[in-house]
Amino acid sequence: MGFQLSEEQQMFRSAVRALAEKELKPRAREIDESAEFPVDLIPKMAEMGLLSMAIPEECDGADVGAISIAIAIEEIGRVCGSTGLSVAAHTSLGCFPLARWGTPEQKGRWLPLLGSGASMGALCLTEPGAGSDLRGVKARGVRDRGDWVISGTKAWITNASLAKVLVVYLQTDPEAGKRGYSMLLVETDRPGVTIHPKEKKMGVRGSPTHQVSFDDVRVPAENLLGEEGRGLQQTLETLDGGRIGIGALAVGIAQGALEEAVTYARERTAFGRPVADFQAIQWMLADAETEIEAARLLVRRAAWLKEHGQRFTREAAMAKLYASEMAERVTRNAIQILGSYGYSSEYPVERMYRDARLMTIGEGTSEVQRLVIARQVLKRY
Ligand SMILES: Cc1cc2nc3c(=O)[nH]c(=O)nc-3n(C[C@H](O)[C@H](O)[C@H](O)COP(=O)(O)OP(=O)(O)OC[C@H]3O[C@@H](n4cnc5c(N)ncnc54)[C@H](O)[C@@H]3O)c2cc1C
Repeated sequence: MGFQLSEEQQMFRSAVRALAEKELKPRAREIDESAEFPVDLIPKMAEMGLLSMAIPEECDGADVGAISIAIAIEEIGRVCGSTGLSVAAHTSLGCFPLARWGTPEQKGRWLPLLGSGASMGALCLTEPGAGSDLRGVKARGVRDRGDWVISGTKAWITNASLAKVLVVYLQTDPEAGKRGYSMLLVETDRPGVTIHPKEKKMGVRGSPTHQVSFDDVRVPAENLLGEEGRGLQQTLETLDGGRIGIGALAVGIAQGALEEAVTYARERTAFGRPVADFQAIQWMLADAETEIEAARLLVRRAAWLKEHGQRFTREAAMAKLYASEMAERVTRNAIQILGSYGYSSEYPVERMYRDARLMTIGEGTSEVQRLVIARQVLKRY
């Protein structure tokens, strides 16, 4: 059993941290306040391979493996939750399905564009009336003279305004039960596609989230991604991987908050001593350090299983559940340690708290993770 990152993984981590510290940390507050994704950093991130982490080398990708993906998302999330979320969604929800089920033509056309950041990746599952309930979606794809005609509305789609192509999950046969759903690729410049204005959000405000509507959008048959009728299974597999990414992002946000809390606790004095001297503060720091480490181990184990081609549904759900709820506790306590300054936007911990709040919701709520884990528990014992 090994707990050591390989030399290559350590080097990758250092390189991502250096970029995050230099380019993102100084701008994280502005990214949050302006609610603007730092598009000017896309070429720098692409150059380092951060936008092609899940893209095979033959399609100009960096193909770094699930562990390094988790490391990179953690490092970005440590300084900027918004950028972390957009990179995580791009990688796990946008690039992964294309790399996994794309035809050679689909991969050749789209993966180099995604890897270069010319298009950010986006996956459209959620609808105004259905999120957790993937079989409750109403958006339809109907075959018509060799094409597909798509109608319906998707909601809360990360990166939609930065995407040239969307992976869209649709009902394609209402009579076929679980086999009645498929994934289609939809170019965002097709007539009938509308990307609505950005949602106004509590946190991860710099990561653009949009409603997208499809008004009889016609795409050719070759835009089907994977097999017709396999969309539900493809989505569940995609979300398993995505959950490792959100777990990693939650670990990163919590790590950033802990570091801020330690710095402050050493400098701030009360009753003639640094507040770091008080046991009440030390216990919060100790709990944070322990819980972050536990979450990181869960995330890395799920990533290891994925990287080694083993089943990881249960492990990814546990990692996402624990890491996201841990990040809420740690960022909450970081505010507590900073006192009134923690509540001020002058310090980053209130932003981290708001960013962390999404982690128990996106890519499957905590309730859904518990459902997934409980199913496995009941099968296992
Ligand atoms: C910032 C942001 C970015 C997002 N990005 C994307 C994206 O890129 N692509 C995308 O498709 N979606 C995206 N989403 C949507 C997100 O994945 C969904 O919001 C999430 O899956 C929950 O769905 P819902 O909001 O419809 O909640 P619902 O499914 O309506 O759930 C409401 C409540 O009921 C609970 N609940 C539902 N079913 C059960 C059950 N069976 N047992 C117990 N409790 C249950 C839920 O846990 C929740 O507490 C994003 C959301 C946000 C806020």
